[in-house]
Amino acid sequence: MSFVTRFAPSPTGHLHLGHAFSALTAFDAARATGGRFVLRIEDIDQGRSRPAFEASIFEDLGWLGIEWERPVRRQSQHMSEYEAALKTLVERQLVYRCFRTRKEIAEAIASAPHGEAEEAFRGEALPPEEENAKLEAGEAFAWRLSLKKARAALGPAYFTLVFEDETQLVRAEPEKHGDVVLARKDFGTSYHLASVWDDALQGVTHVIRGEDLREAAHLHVLLQKLLKLPQPIYRHHRLILGEDGKRLAKRDSAATLKALREAGKTPADIRAMVGL
Ligand code: GLU
Repeated sequence: MSFVTRFAPSPTGHLHLGHAFSALTAFDAARATGGRFVLRIEDIDQGRSRPAFEASIFEDLGWLGIEWERPVRRQSQHMSEYEAALKTLVERQLVYRCFRTRKEIAEAIASAPHGEAEEAFRGEALPPEEENAKLEAGEAFAWRLSLKKARAALGPAYFTLVFEDETQLVRAEPEKHGDVVLARKDFGTSYHLASVWDDALQGVTHVIRGEDLREAAHLHVLLQKLLKLPQPIYRHHRLILGEDGKRLAKRDSAATLKALREAGKTPADIRAMVGL
């Protein structure tokens, strides 16, 4: 069986020990199976992405001894592909325009009866006249995936959606997410749509990433089904914690690979520090 895995950082800060663990885990797995390792730059958030951080990603990974295929896919250069994927969902009425503000959504969630919808927002398209009036008035909106429509479209298959995480078969529960935003009026894609699209396009067979993204898989497998994309195997690995016992964040500057390198650590030290 072919094995293709990836590391997909966002260039919004310097990489830290948690990223090193993730990238090395994926790279080692590709090496061990004679498979492929691809690097993808997830820079759709152009407000926060910086070329300098992208350069720093290349430098850090190269220093760690990681090798990746060229050219590197940069998501910001492929927005039209995600828009085309969204369009197929629009045409099938699996997504709807949601004009509610963040505050209104928070209120709708807060007033929802307890149960599975507790955390997650669900809505539906407005009647056409109301929607047209808002569009004409130039109001902002988000494209939300309709769980109700997705369920109707897939029928019984919706309830038998599973994904492989490590060696376990997990039943997907997209309800956890509610009707997620897949794009905005002026912004062609969300992380979820772009990531799922690219994993398929790049032939990724094994998604190896931190367990903070395990919940996202519950939604991603639904998107794969709706977009008729192949489903990868997931491996969500443990997170590297900082000295305070909390998950490392990009703002923890002491744990960045750049800082550690400048302090004299070697790639072997980094491996040891993350338990590899
Ligand atoms: N770009 C995401 C991040 O930097 C990773 C997404 C993924 O691995 O699916 O957190």
